[in-house]
Amino acid sequence: MRARFSTEVMDSRNGAEMASILRACVHCGFCNATCPTYRLKSDELDGPRGRIYLIKSMLEDEAISTSSQMHLDRCLICRACETTCPSGVRFGRLLELARPLVEERVGRSGWERLKRWLIRYIVPHPRRFSALMVVARIFKPVCPAVLRELVPTAATGDAGHKAVSHARKMVLLDGCVQQALAPAINAAAGEVFDRLGVQLLSFPRSVCCGAVPYHLGALHEARRYARANIEVWSAALDAGAEAVVTTSTGCAMMLKEYAELLADDPIYAKRAARVANLVVDPCEVIDAEELGRVYQAKSSPAIAFHAPCTLEHGLHAAGRTQACLRAVGFELTSVPDAHLCCGSAGSFSLLQPQLATQLLDQTLTALQSEAPTAIASANIGCIMHLRRRADRPVMHWLELIRPHRVRADQ
Ligand code: SF4
Ligand code: SF4
Repeated sequence: MRARFSTEVMDSRNGAEMASILRACVHCGFCNATCPTYRLKSDELDGPRGRIYLIKSMLEDEAISTSSQMHLDRCLICRACETTCPSGVRFGRLLELARPLVEERVGRSGWERLKRWLIRYIVPHPRRFSALMVVARIFKPVCPAVLRELVPTAATGDAGHKAVSHARKMVLLDGCVQQALAPAINAAAGEVFDRLGVQLLSFPRSVCCGAVPYHLGALHEARRYARANIEVWSAALDAGAEAVVTTSTGCAMMLKEYAELLADDPIYAKRAARVANLVVDPCEVIDAEELGRVYQAKSSPAIAFHAPCTLEHGLHAAGRTQACLRAVGFELTSVPDAHLCCGSAGSFSLLQPQLATQLLDQTLTALQSEAPTAIASANIGCIMHLRRRADRPVMHWLELIRPHRVRADQ
């Protein structure tokens, strides 16, 4: 793509990086075919190629309007376009870098700023989030249907697991929203890893991975969370912990961003790169065959697996979770258009409720098309979003496996 950027843009670190990403685009438009918002809106500006043009115009010092901001806001950062792109355009990175600039130039109404501040103030903090949920559940019966649907039911599932010491150790991200909404997920992870001879180390002083502020353009806040986590995990990593495990693929993607987020930080750059290199989703370190020896389902219930975008297009770990589920004896149904985002996408479902609900309905129709007994996924955001309208259980795949332990005496 030909572009004329000002010296000011080219001299700034982010400007030069954005220019280099933009120049890789050859304008072929293949990416539009797999973009969920382009498929819904049929508008060039709601697809990746159009959004790339909007960002290019902004960097060429052309005016950027509130309408352009709206088209950029509608992007889920699902990265389906990256998987399709033959030129390797890093669209997700480009948008993350462009958002704060758009914010600076266009601004937002007081209400929009307040919504974003509230999300950043509440969601990354388990205590604040839990308190909000208590209040929301009290008022749920008198809320309009559209708001009732957003209030999740109280956490169920076995949240207990007593850690057993093993020579092999890995750091576990405690998480923020997940701690409040589904503590059974990390308990299931602790138990499954324990059975596989790995101790997951939990750190109550760890904080949100930073994804919430990062995707809202508050990079300074995201950096603060990143530094805090790096500090908390340093001693364990120095002592030989092999990996940083997170049971939420959205958090895994964010932790992988630490290297770029803190690249200019003289104190944390190296340590951030170390953390980013060690981040894994459970499916990347669990050997499916070994898992099948310690967990085995007695019947073969049909399960629909919803692969989060962060797993497919971010971590590029397509098929690995499904291999683990099959090794344990689950039948997996086929899911049409499985590469499309469910509409959760971090805070997207709160900021773009209409589009998020359209994508949710589309995804559930596909997931439930072969009448599975349950839906499994690998990201807390997707799980909570799907639960809003699913007519069968939705859970993390490690929770699904947990009860099917093969006993030593069998
Ligand atoms: S990240 Fe997803 S929603 Fe955004 S442009 Fe790419 S495919 Fe479309
Ligand atoms: S597929 Fe890649 S190269 Fe083609 S228009 Fe989309 S981003 Fe540009």
